[in-house]
Amino acid sequence: MSVQDRVFIAGAGPVGLVAAANLLRAGVPVTVFEAGSDLSTESRASTFHPPTLDMLHSLGAAQPLIAQGLIAPSFQYRTKKDGLIAQFDFDAIADATAHPYRVQSEQSKLTRILLDRLQGEPNFEISFDSRVVAVTQDQSSVTVTTERNGSAQSRTGRWLVGTDGASSSVRRSLGIGFEGFTWPDRLLVVSTPFDFHAVIPGLTAVNYVADPARWHFLLQIPGLWRVMFLIKEDVSDEQIQTHEFAQSLMATVVPGISNYDISHTTLYKVHQRVASTFRLGRAFLAGDAAHINNPLGGMGMNGGIHDAINLTDRLAEVWHGRADDAALDRYDTQRRLVTLETIQTQTIQNKKNLETPEPFRQSLEAIKADPRRTYEYLLRVSMIATLRRAQELG
Ligand SMILES: Cc1cc2nc3c(=O)[nH]c(=O)nc-3n(C[C@H](O)[C@H](O)[C@H](O)COP(=O)(O)OP(=O)(O)OC[C@H]3O[C@@H](n4cnc5c(N)ncnc54)[C@H](O)[C@@H]3O)c2cc1C
Repeated sequence: MSVQDRVFIAGAGPVGLVAAANLLRAGVPVTVFEAGSDLSTESRASTFHPPTLDMLHSLGAAQPLIAQGLIAPSFQYRTKKDGLIAQFDFDAIADATAHPYRVQSEQSKLTRILLDRLQGEPNFEISFDSRVVAVTQDQSSVTVTTERNGSAQSRTGRWLVGTDGASSSVRRSLGIGFEGFTWPDRLLVVSTPFDFHAVIPGLTAVNYVADPARWHFLLQIPGLWRVMFLIKEDVSDEQIQTHEFAQSLMATVVPGISNYDISHTTLYKVHQRVASTFRLGRAFLAGDAAHINNPLGGMGMNGGIHDAINLTDRLAEVWHGRADDAALDRYDTQRRLVTLETIQTQTIQNKKNLETPEPFRQSLEAIKADPRRTYEYLLRVSMIATLRRAQELG
């Protein structure tokens, strides 16, 4: 079989399309294989962090995303008992990013923006209804087999980036482990057009509300609020998915307000897992294919986009003969270690914080009282610290 001088990408989610856009920008030909018949419209990530916006800016995608989203210059921590306990403003880290704010917008907006930009590129090819089912490789090429309309097709290219999500066929086909655990609790996201600003004075677009019995967080996206609740293991899936159950949870958000207009509800299992390597020969893993974590702090998609940029910057250098293969090993060293060290640790801590309001309040008060600690804290929650740490790993 002839080898095509292209990089293959499995999966057209936010991470796969960022990888494609960054390779094309560097003049590297790309083919994306996507299992779906179109881009996913699923409602999942809705928070873009400052350094992610900086990266998207270099791909021409930040402005259109901001135009379709909401700018969130601050975020708040509250407790159910006491209301507001701390507000943090991204202005404090304006020296470290060109976008000192979060953008609240669904990930499906980003994938559409990126695909629209890529469609006209001569070096870009996307194949929908093409599920990658097997991967083999030798020293100079990688072959992917896809299933398309019931028949299998194989193509051989130079490199493969597996961005085919948490159940990644690329990862399975390469035999790479996905170690970690699944929380016994699940998450329920309830979306409503109800205007929480009208009933909670001073509310920001991103608010975490701690409570030992049942915490929640409240995120605003254009036209809707998303309220996320943790559901204990003793409640059945059938019970959770009833209208009455969602209404009973929503009635705990603002005392005296019930019977919300509910647009949709989504139930999720929550995992903390990291692949045992992000590179095997000519194949790489990035995004959810490489790591999954709870959504507290919005680090899943953002971390995946950071993977995609780190990897494809290197791959482009190797493609053009400006760097050697060892540069690609550093993708695994940097991104896998920061995922283990910071993203996994931070998201697990974020969950604990919401369950233990009193120690959390005390630690926030200490951070707020010290401008240096506030600065460092904001670098951490906005994931700038993670990127700096990756650079230190060499
Ligand atoms: C409720 C919820 C809220 C979240 N909120 C946030 C947030 O605010 N911020 C944040 O950073 N993260 C958040 N996340 C996590 C975020 O949604 C994921 O990290 C993100 O979708 C990962 O992107 P990805 O491109 O790696 O994978 P995906 O988005 O899963 O995309 C994978 C793509 O690959 C395709 N595919 C799958 N298998 C194959 C195959 N075999 N061959 C070809 N194509 C295939 C799929 O159809 C899909 O298009 C949230 C997650 C949930 C569940």
